[in-house]
Amino acid sequence: MGNNHKDEYDVTVIGAGLIGICSALSIAETGTSVQLIDRDDPGQGASYGNAGVISPWSIVPQSMPGIWKQIPSMLFSINGPLSIKPWHFPKLIPWGLRFLRNSTHEKVRKTSNAMELLNQSNIELYRQHLAGTGHEHLIRDSFYVHAFRNSRKAKLDNLGYEIRTSKGGNLEKIGQQELRKLEPALSKEFQAAILIKGQARALAPGKIGTVLVAKAKSLGVKIIKANVEKLAPDIKGGWSTKTNIGNFTSRKIVLCAGAWSANLLKPLGIHLPLEAERGYHLEYNNPCIELNNSIMDVDKMLVASSMEDGLRVAGTAEFAGLDAPLNKKRINSLKKLAKDMLPELNQDDAKTWMGIRPSMPDSLPILDEFPHHKGLFAAFGHSHYGLMMAPKTGQIIADLVTEKPINLDLSPFSADRF
Ligand SMILES: Cc1cc2nc3c(=O)[nH]c(=O)nc-3n(C[C@H](O)[C@H](O)[C@H](O)COP(=O)(O)OP(=O)(O)OC[C@H]3O[C@@H](n4cnc5c(N)ncnc54)[C@H](O)[C@@H]3O)c2cc1C
Repeated sequence: MGNNHKDEYDVTVIGAGLIGICSALSIAETGTSVQLIDRDDPGQGASYGNAGVISPWSIVPQSMPGIWKQIPSMLFSINGPLSIKPWHFPKLIPWGLRFLRNSTHEKVRKTSNAMELLNQSNIELYRQHLAGTGHEHLIRDSFYVHAFRNSRKAKLDNLGYEIRTSKGGNLEKIGQQELRKLEPALSKEFQAAILIKGQARALAPGKIGTVLVAKAKSLGVKIIKANVEKLAPDIKGGWSTKTNIGNFTSRKIVLCAGAWSANLLKPLGIHLPLEAERGYHLEYNNPCIELNNSIMDVDKMLVASSMEDGLRVAGTAEFAGLDAPLNKKRINSLKKLAKDMLPELNQDDAKTWMGIRPSMPDSLPILDEFPHHKGLFAAFGHSHYGLMMAPKTGQIIADLVTEKPINLDLSPFSADRF
């Protein structure tokens, strides 16, 4: 305790989720020295348990026109996708109002343009990161199948699909028979689907983290297991990262601590609307069925995918703060919804998991150097899209940190936009 770690590193990356891992990797590839700190094993936060969708066409924010009308039914229907714990409600109001203000047509189109910038190249970038590791198979080409029980609701001119198509997405509506051929394990209740083509899925998101950390290590990145307690400007210039095992200094810090990032900034006078949006998954090791693509049950907002260790069903947006325990009711709902979606699913031996999405009210992360804190950079707030946006985020952060000219408009991701 109280040690000052003397090794000099150019950059400290805090948080070894996929955002921190990809950032550390891309920074190290420029020849800059990096230390990567996490209190847990790398890749075990939200980055471990997500639904595995990697989609250039996930360019539609969470806050959409008319969402305010849907909130009561999402909240109060049995097994609905949204849950707000009463004690958290007052804290959530300012964030919720900002979220709703982002739901106008104009804002949605602007946000979508920004999301496109972070999404377009990620399948290729993941493949580049994994090339030569022996784990290239962890990214598999896929459709994203949006399945509907009511065929009339599967409309390609819905705003979200219209935006994707207008930006070059290859989308197709199929009927019940074609859907059954494509995904025989889906319930017969589904009458139609919108296929979003040109996507990929991760077969083990947590393992991708582990593999990329090993690659980062081979490039000289030092991995440190420690709980970060405080960030402070160092008296000799640069930054000091105070942890439970001592202080680590570096010229620059990149904060990638996911949903926990905002708490580390408050002592510096930086206040950001970052919300802990908790999600759940069930993973069935012996599902007795196989899915060929990532599939969303659009009515219930649930995503299912066959992965390396079994079939994973993920979903739920629960607002209960950072520290509430796993909510068994949400697990039970997910179990019921999974069976409705996939009637032949063998539900013995399910592993349960809860993770926390770092969510900003405009669905966009912060990728920036804090204006009044030179050398302190942010890469967090990727909400529902952090698996897919991680490699491009890493590239952008590497360019920012190494002061490489960037020919992109990064203003939608600025730290002072709120
Ligand atoms: C149910 C669910 C389904 C999802 N599905 C998808 C999907 O299909 N596709 C997609 O792109 N995204 C999806 N997401 C979102 C995605 O998982 C997240 O956006 C992404 O993982 C965020 O990555 P991160 O690195 O910012 O955070 P995390 O993976 O949470 O990493 C943050 C890290 O910081 C560390 N940390 C925090 N505080 C400290 C501290 N004080 N000291 C040391 N270490 C600290 C934590 O231990 C953790 O390892 C899903 C999320 C959920 C919950």
